[in-house]
Amino acid sequence: MSNPLQIKSPWPAYEWPQDKQSAVLLSVDVDAHVPFMWAHKDHVPDRMGTLEIRRFGPRTGIYRLLDLFARYEAKASFYVPALTAETNPEMLAAILEGGHEIGLHGYFHEIVSEVSDDEFTGALEASLELLTRETGVKPVGFRSPAWEMTPHMLRELRRVGLAYDSSLSGFDHPYEIDGVVEIPVQWALDDAIFFKFEGGGRDKWPYQSGRAVLQDWIAEWQALHRFGGLFTLTVHDWISGRAQRIALLEELLDTITAEMATWIATAAEIAHHHATSGNAGRFAVDGKAPEAIGTRRFGQDIGHSHG
Ligand SMILES: [Zn+2]
Repeated sequence: MSNPLQIKSPWPAYEWPQDKQSAVLLSVDVDAHVPFMWAHKDHVPDRMGTLEIRRFGPRTGIYRLLDLFARYEAKASFYVPALTAETNPEMLAAILEGGHEIGLHGYFHEIVSEVSDDEFTGALEASLELLTRETGVKPVGFRSPAWEMTPHMLRELRRVGLAYDSSLSGFDHPYEIDGVVEIPVQWALDDAIFFKFEGGGRDKWPYQSGRAVLQDWIAEWQALHRFGGLFTLTVHDWISGRAQRIALLEELLDTITAEMATWIATAAEIAHHHATSGNAGRFAVDGKAPEAIGTRRFGQDIGHSHG
């Protein structure tokens, strides 16, 4: 099927494998209790509410998600902070047994604005080492905690030999930024913005209706399918492992898997496709921040008149 655009953009249409018009990446950020630990680095409060909400993920949520993907014969990408892996090593075997991908997601789910370049590098190396040791497979992908990146981080991913990043949203299909293959995400397809609720008075908004979110996600997938894009769904063990969330994902996967022309693949497979197809190099952009506006402000020393 052809690209629905009548007005041509300077960028060519993205090419998916033969017979496929769009792609779907099912991704799980296995945060568990780790962001809570990062938020309380120096002292963990003696309160169980939020911790238990999050511990539901490794105990129950992750296995419900694995069971869901198995029923639809869909392979997913799991981004596991190293501390999640340290705390729940049994989970890694279950993910690998399902034929899924395990990627990096920080050591302590470090928030980018709260660490130096050197700290990022240290956490990247340590998490790569731990996950390689625990799984016997060297991860090929990285997803940044809270989806923030810097040029330093992209350079470091290249240096340690990772194949892709999945944290940015500059296209709605794979591209390259500073020479790193980017498997884009988007906030509208993240369960956290709709269903994250930790209690304790810190939440900024209430749960959204699962019905409304399901309708939106299906509409987003249908539209992205028309435009030939990548539908990257991001769910969390402790959020979408809850009963009604699993039922919601079943309805979503019923719709998606009925369309034979969409390719459901792991991020590693999608990144490999990107790098070995005609797409490679066609969507290459620079990650450098623009110059500050600074002296370019108007209204000073403007020598010419209007009109
Ligand atoms: Zn996360």
